[in-house]
Amino acid sequence: MGEDAERLKRRLPLLEYLRQQNWIGRSVGRGEYVGLCPLHQESRPSFYVNARKDVFYCHGCGQGGDLFRFLQLSERMSFRESLACLDQAVPRECESTAVLEQAATFYEQQLERHPEARQYLSQRSVHDPVLMRELRIGYAAGGSLRRHLRAQGYSFELLQRAGLITERGIDALYQRVVFPLYQDEHIVNLYGRSIGDAFAHRFLPGGKGGLYAWDQVRHYPEIILVEGLFDYAALRQAGFVNVTCSLGTHLNEDQLRHMCDGQRTVYVAFDADANRSGQRAAEQLARYLGARGIAARRVLLPEGHDPNSFFARGGTANQFQSLLEAAQP
Ligand SMILES: [Zn+2]
Repeated sequence: MGEDAERLKRRLPLLEYLRQQNWIGRSVGRGEYVGLCPLHQESRPSFYVNARKDVFYCHGCGQGGDLFRFLQLSERMSFRESLACLDQAVPRECESTAVLEQAATFYEQQLERHPEARQYLSQRSVHDPVLMRELRIGYAAGGSLRRHLRAQGYSFELLQRAGLITERGIDALYQRVVFPLYQDEHIVNLYGRSIGDAFAHRFLPGGKGGLYAWDQVRHYPEIILVEGLFDYAALRQAGFVNVTCSLGTHLNEDQLRHMCDGQRTVYVAFDADANRSGQRAAEQLARYLGARGIAARRVLLPEGHDPNSFFARGGTANQFQSLLEAAQP
């Protein structure tokens, strides 16, 4: 019984359940959310959810506990009844979110165990441990995720549906550095960068979401847009906070909508490819933004460079700042 309960809680975090019940919680940082208490009448929010510990506490009525405690209080169910009810209630979308979350955590732990992945990151000049934790960078060695998640009670079918394993049951991400991609604070996809000979970029099925870390940068009057997550990491390490990433030079509808949702200047710092594909994409995007009243500037990197290689080869924050100042409309 205890084990079933733990499995259910992993599949359906308390915060997910509350959101399904239309509870509105405001983030107060560190994985904590506050909103009106669903268990007693109140006009000022005193109901806190700690998403990391997967528990709630209300300072108004003094109730607290986990998802099962919440159901017992809100639905007047016994523990056994709440267990049966939740087993039925876990919807598909929320299962996918939960399984991606578990996969991301597993990959984060694997990064510690695989020196080849850390070496790759350091070659690409990604070395700040605080930033790496913030971005939740991980490593998919391949061949171990399926066993790990099956042992946690996730079905084979769910792992396939989420794209984490192939039809033949093999881990989809193999020898790749992994970055989780978020939308509205949920992981919607995983991006894997090959550290070997395989095709460089890989996403799980489904969209790449909106612009990377958009909530953190949307309020800046000037934004730097890069095409890759390694470019993003390099700029963040160099002290630039107003950076976002489109994961490729083609922006999807969500990303274009983000770019145009307020007055701002966008510095497009795509790769300076020898075949000029990055430059052409930047010109095209600048025209698109210009036509919608968003000022766009193209940052001209030295030939053959992207922001990541610029810093990896010893470029400084001051030098990049000069490139921003010289950026062309
Ligand atoms: Zn309360």
